[in-house]
Amino acid sequence: MSVNTIKKAKKLVESGCVVKIEADLFQIKSSSDPDKSYFATGDTCECFGFKNYYKFHHGNGQKANCSHLEAIRIFKKENSD
Ligand SMILES: [Zn+2]
Repeated sequence: MSVNTIKKAKKLVESGCVVKIEADLFQIKSSSDPDKSYFATGDTCECFGFKNYYKFHHGNGQKANCSHLEAIRIFKKENSD
């Protein structure tokens, strides 16, 4: 996963863009467009980057990922006690 993705994910969490809806359902507000948001679960996201991950990365054995899913991971880590 790229450093850029992690940086973007951290920023999303820090700016409060990640909102927990249900146990495994999150709403992530777009950092570039405040009117836009994506819904994501623990391992799927409805954003363009996630949907096209395999197209972009030619199925190199990696699991599809995007900054939103990474943001959820960080969010979960910070909010678990
Ligand atoms: Zn996404």
